[in-house]
Amino acid sequence: MNIRGISADTLSLLLIMGQESHPREFAALLSTEEGVIRNVDIIPGTIGGSASASVLFEMIPLNVGYIGSAHSHPSGAIRPSEADLAFFSRTGSCHIIVGHPYGQDDWRCFHADGTSIELEVIPDE
Ligand SMILES: [Zn+2]
Repeated sequence: MNIRGISADTLSLLLIMGQESHPREFAALLSTEEGVIRNVDIIPGTIGGSASASVLFEMIPLNVGYIGSAHSHPSGAIRPSEADLAFFSRTGSCHIIVGHPYGQDDWRCFHADGTSIELEVIPDE
């Protein structure tokens, strides 16, 4: 599927979710409407929970319809870990990591193989 970008509101939401779960991680799955990422499904237990997002990722069944994932790195290092890469290869092609301090530019998007990709931020009407 072709992904045109992410809605600005959705990106803001992901950054806020990162802030609210800090110092823990959150994890979510993403889906699109007409090629734009607009839907965020939080993985239960990842906000305020004690398990790391990578552990919870392993419990997610393969799910048709998700184009990728989003999770936070409280360390602020915005690059995928080994566990992240193992998960990325199972679900979709666009994986967003938001990092502390969760500002406007504290995020990146990665392909399943861990290479960084440009993701356009699309203003909401
Ligand atoms: Zn990670």
